[in-house]
Amino acid sequence: MIEIKNVSKWYGTFQVLTDCTTSVQKGEVVVVCGPSGSGKSTLIKTVNALEPFQQGDILVDGVSIGDPKTNLPKLRSRVGMVFQHFELFPHLSVTENLTLAQIKVLGRSKDEARVRGLKMLERVGLTAHKDKFPGQLSGGQQQRVAIARALSMDPIVMLFDEPTSALDPEMVGEVLDVMVQLAHEGMTMMCVTHEMGFARKVSHRVVFMDQGKIIEDCKKEEFFGNPEARSTRAKDFLSKIL
Ligand code: ADP
Ligand code: MG
Repeated sequence: MIEIKNVSKWYGTFQVLTDCTTSVQKGEVVVVCGPSGSGKSTLIKTVNALEPFQQGDILVDGVSIGDPKTNLPKLRSRVGMVFQHFELFPHLSVTENLTLAQIKVLGRSKDEARVRGLKMLERVGLTAHKDKFPGQLSGGQQQRVAIARALSMDPIVMLFDEPTSALDPEMVGEVLDVMVQLAHEGMTMMCVTHEMGFARKVSHRVVFMDQGKIIEDCKKEEFFGNPEARSTRAKDFLSKIL
């Protein structure tokens, strides 16, 4: 579903990604972790073409992001993205947040978009809040709306960039529950997160990054089950967060 092939990227003269290669198969849940500043957000943003890269290529469902002929807005519309800060439109109601991109980007009718959006809102357990504005919801609820909004676009893959790290601790669980449910339904997911409980429970693979490089890419069982086989940096990281 996603093939990241030898991707390197520079911000000016600073090399932020060095020869990154990994993949996410259909139905697979891959957790990306690593210290702050290691390039996780940059890597995940290259996957939906929010950040350009200078070397290598990324294929999303067989379509090359590096190919200048690729219709990037179209490709992006099929890749759901959920950020740390929910980025809902504050002046629009929950329902309007859910329908806007469906109407503008996918060309759906208002009714069609509303039906789809409300179905996704039900999936995240927030039907009762459909007419509220983001500011009237808790952080956890806003993040669940952001997930419902991404799902409303019928994405072929969902990308998450630390979706729970800006939340108060008591709200982390409700967002993780939605992510766990999605994973169990077979959604293809690439998740930057330090929630190792989530990684243990539902991920298939763990990618560990340090200083712009992928230095571990292995099955979950290997990552958590055999710490002695891990790189010093990964061991050090795990010892701090577990
Ligand atoms: P992470 O998500 O793992 O914390 P990031 O991908 O956000 O890492 O950042 C990786 C490195 O790139 C950091 O050193 C950060 O300061 C730098 N960086 C991120 N965005 C930019 C940018 N727009 N311009 C220049 N440097 C950036
Ligand atoms: Mg980040």
